[in-house]
Amino acid sequence: MFEELIRELDRLQDTHQIPVSVSTDAEGYLDRQCPSPECKFEFKVHAEDWKNKVRDEEVFCAFCGHTADSTNWSTPEQTEYFTKEALNHLNAHLGQAMRLDADNWNRRQPRNSFIRITMTANSVPQQILVPPQAADPMRLRITCPACACRYAVIGAAFFCPACGHNAADIMFAHTISGIRNSLASLPSVRAAISDKDSAENTARLIVENGLQNAVTAFQRYAEALYNRFPAVTPPRRNVFQNLKEGSDLWHAASGKRYVDYLTAAEAMTLAILFQQRHLLAHTQGMVDDDYIARTGDSSYRIGQRVVIREAAVRECLTLIEKLALGLTEP
Ligand SMILES: [Zn+2]
Ligand SMILES: [Zn+2]
Repeated sequence: MFEELIRELDRLQDTHQIPVSVSTDAEGYLDRQCPSPECKFEFKVHAEDWKNKVRDEEVFCAFCGHTADSTNWSTPEQTEYFTKEALNHLNAHLGQAMRLDADNWNRRQPRNSFIRITMTANSVPQQILVPPQAADPMRLRITCPACACRYAVIGAAFFCPACGHNAADIMFAHTISGIRNSLASLPSVRAAISDKDSAENTARLIVENGLQNAVTAFQRYAEALYNRFPAVTPPRRNVFQNLKEGSDLWHAASGKRYVDYLTAAEAMTLAILFQQRHLLAHTQGMVDDDYIARTGDSSYRIGQRVVIREAAVRECLTLIEKLALGLTEP
């Protein structure tokens, strides 16, 4: 009686591919989301590159570098839509099989008997589903220097979704602009926190973190640039956090020192800022004799706490950008 239905159910045991359409934003980018529960970073990949450059076996999260195969990157809205489409597809196939069964049954009923049992298969009318709208375009659009995959993020990205390339220059630029943005948000941070002590502490942490992150960003970028020289000795860990040692190492590899890229006054200012960063990281900002000896900074006595101003962090950003630009010159 249910031959068609049974046959259809048998057929459905195999893997099925259901064509679904997904929306892209106005710029042609497709919404994606990192499947790692710790991350869930939302980003976009240009639809053409998702099809042609991203491999099925391995996709990288633009933010955390988590890898998973290409079926794992749907946003919750897309997943819901795909599930509904699959159910729709299933309903349509089973409904069709049941209608055929009913027709066969009815055809076999004797026409002239006193009692006639007929069967009708009612199927739910099929819904037409509209794919979820893509999120608005993201301002920060990146083209991978290694594989040319186009992707877009909010805030910062460190990995190409297609090849996992971690571009040191992109990472450096994103970190610098991230620090500038957080400095720019200081007035709203102060306004948003009603408790004056917490507001000032938070603002101070943002400024001091800005200095620490700026130095770390420079260190990582300088390391990456240094490693481009063939056959250099591997640098001591964190050596580029130290301007003098970093400059010596760079000189040994390239024949140029940092002072070739900065004026003497700029190099002096940067040296002080790097040493102040050192104090924040190692002495909770308390000035020690090492600091005085290395910088010759007469504005502090040993035992005082350094004061980091927003303007100083901005100056540090400008100087490390200038220095980094110099280091990238052939
Ligand atoms: Zn992630
Ligand atoms: Zn790439």
